[in-house]
Amino acid sequence: MSLKISGYPLGMTMTNAYIVVEEESGTTVVIDPGFEGARLARIITENGWRCQAVWLTHAHFDHIGGVGALVAGLPGEPPVALHAADLPLWELQGGAPLFGIEGVDTGPRPSIDLTDGQLLILGQTKFEVRHAPGHTPGHVMFYCDTADVLFCGDVIFQGSIGRTDLPGGSYGTLMDSIRHQVLSLPDDTRLLNGHGPETTVGRERAYNPFLNM
Ligand SMILES: [Zn+2]
Ligand SMILES: [Zn+2]
Repeated sequence: MSLKISGYPLGMTMTNAYIVVEEESGTTVVIDPGFEGARLARIITENGWRCQAVWLTHAHFDHIGGVGALVAGLPGEPPVALHAADLPLWELQGGAPLFGIEGVDTGPRPSIDLTDGQLLILGQTKFEVRHAPGHTPGHVMFYCDTADVLFCGDVIFQGSIGRTDLPGGSYGTLMDSIRHQVLSLPDDTRLLNGHGPETTVGRERAYNPFLNM
């Protein structure tokens, strides 16, 4: 089975949305559609893919703001997946009003409840949900060991870590999450994050200044 992964940095926060396609079946999930949901829906439709679900790493507005237009632009209204501990944040439109942003279309209420260790199936490819609180209480990551890839949202970036100064954030909790849920993975695991360029577990283990203090 082979995965095709395309990243789209969208919006003023340059949040990476990912379209993940299992090529044999054309089955697709979209991870963190923060903006331009209609455009993402068009890409999926034009390629003849079938979107099975929307997976959210966490409920900040810049990761969920495109869900409404995405789901509206696809047949059959694909379900949305989120960890329950981020539902309160989802209900507050992902904190958008805090940043003076109005009218975020967060789409249908999440109906897939993500929990640590849960297996998600895309076609015949398995992903493991890894709970990684600290940036938000219900932050999760999606790990595919056969493809050596971790969609890590705003937990860890190239040379940096997620901010912990927003409501529900905790520096100590985030560092624990990174140690147990990221650094426990093999060095060649690709880290596809919420902002900025991709990196690897090994590279961050060696060079990330926040992990080497
Ligand atoms: Zn965030
Ligand atoms: Zn973000």
